[in-house]
Amino acid sequence: MTDQATEPRPPHTTPLETARAQLASAIEILGYGEGLHQMLATPRREMNVAIPLRRDDGEVVLFTGYRVQHNISRGPGKGGLRYSSSVDVDEVRALAMWMTWKCAVVDVPYGGAKGGVTIDPRLHSQAELERVTRRYTSEIMPIIGPERDIMAPDIGTDEQTMAWVMDTYSVNLGYTIPAVTTGKPLAVGGSLGRPTATSRGVVHAATAALADAGVRLDEVSAAVQGFGKVGSHACRFLHEAGARVVAVSDEHGGVRAADGLDVPALLRHVQEAGTVTGFAGGEPISNAELLALDVDLLIPAAVEGVLDEESAARVKARWVVEAANGPTTTEGDRVLADRGVQVVPDILANAGGVIVSYFEWVQANQAYWWTEHEIAERLEQRMLASYRSVASLAHAEGLSLRDAALAIGVRRVAEAHQIRGLYP
Ligand code: GLU
Repeated sequence: MTDQATEPRPPHTTPLETARAQLASAIEILGYGEGLHQMLATPRREMNVAIPLRRDDGEVVLFTGYRVQHNISRGPGKGGLRYSSSVDVDEVRALAMWMTWKCAVVDVPYGGAKGGVTIDPRLHSQAELERVTRRYTSEIMPIIGPERDIMAPDIGTDEQTMAWVMDTYSVNLGYTIPAVTTGKPLAVGGSLGRPTATSRGVVHAATAALADAGVRLDEVSAAVQGFGKVGSHACRFLHEAGARVVAVSDEHGGVRAADGLDVPALLRHVQEAGTVTGFAGGEPISNAELLALDVDLLIPAAVEGVLDEESAARVKARWVVEAANGPTTTEGDRVLADRGVQVVPDILANAGGVIVSYFEWVQANQAYWWTEHEIAERLEQRMLASYRSVASLAHAEGLSLRDAALAIGVRRVAEAHQIRGLYP
C-alpha cells in the first residue's frame, strides 16, 4: 500500500526559481560573465512596508506590502500592483524581473518593477481597499513617480486602484500627476484601449505564431485558462477573429463545448454569476482537464506555474501562448519543447498591456490624447515587430522563442548598463 503523503513528489518550482533559470539560460546564450549575471539576477531596490488597516467594524489588521524595482537602466521602473493573499517578496521579485525583460523586448523605455500586497481583495469592502491602497502608496512614495517607477493594475487590482494611487501621490505633492500610474480610468487621464490591450496583444502574438506555420486563427480551436481582465477579453477577440473557443476556466472550474462556446452568451453569464462555472452552454471541466484538451491553441491566462513537468506532459495543443506571467516552469518548458509544442513566451505574448501603458504615460506627459484607432494600430505594429525580431533570432540561432525573447531583452538591458558604465 502506498501512502500518498509520503511518496516523493517532484519539487515545486517557485516563480523566482523559474525567472532565475530563464536568466541563466539567456546569460549562457549571450556569453556574459558572472558579475553581470549577478547584477541582472538581483533587484536594484526593494521596499517592504507594513500596512495597518482599520476595518469597517473598527478592528485593526496588518498587511505586508512590497515594491521591487528589478532594473532601471533603460528608464523608470514599470510594472503592476498585485493584491493576493499568497503574494510574497520572492514572487514580486520574479514578476519585477519579467517586467524588465518584457519592456526591453518590446522596446519601451522602461526598466522593470512590481508591487504586491498580501491581501485577498475579495474579503474587503471598497472602503477598506481604498484605505489599504492609500496607505501602501504613501509608504512607497519616496521610490515611485512618473520618472521613477510607474504602477499599473495586475491580479486583484483595477482602474479604481490606480485612481487611488494617483490621487494619493498627487495630493501629497500638491498637484495632479496622472503619469504616476497607468491603467487609470479615462476620466483621470487613462488611455483608450488600455483595458483590452493585453488581450489584444495576446491575439496578435497568437496570429503571428500561427501564420509562421501557415495557419489562420479562424482555422483553430482554443482553450483559455483564466477569465479575468486578460482571459475574458482574449476569448472575445479570439471568437471575433473566428477561432473556435472550446473551453474556458477560472479559479472555480471551467466549461467546455466541443463545437465552440457561445462566447457572447458566456460573457453575459459571467457578468451575472461572477464565474464561468454553471454556464448552461457547456459541460463542466476542471482546470487540469482544460490544460490537457486536444486543442490547437492553449492560452494560460491566470497565474504562475500551471504548466509544470506533470501538466506539460499532458498538453496536446500545438501552440501555447502565455497570457499570464510565468505560467510555465523551467521543467514544464523542457517537456513542452520535447513534445514539439511552440510556446510564445509571456514577456512577448502579454506585452500588449505594458505597451499601451507606455502610450498612456506618453499621452499623460504630453497632455494630448490619441484616438482608439491610433492606439490599436500602434499596439499591433509594436507587437508584430517584436514578434518578428524574436522569431527571426530564434530561427537564425536555433533557439526557442522564449530563449530568443530573453536574449533580446537581457541584451538590451545589459547594453544600456554597459554604455552608462558603473558608478563610481
Ligand atoms: N501587470 C501587467 C503586466 O504584468 C501590466 C504592467 C504595466 O502595464 O505596467 O504586464
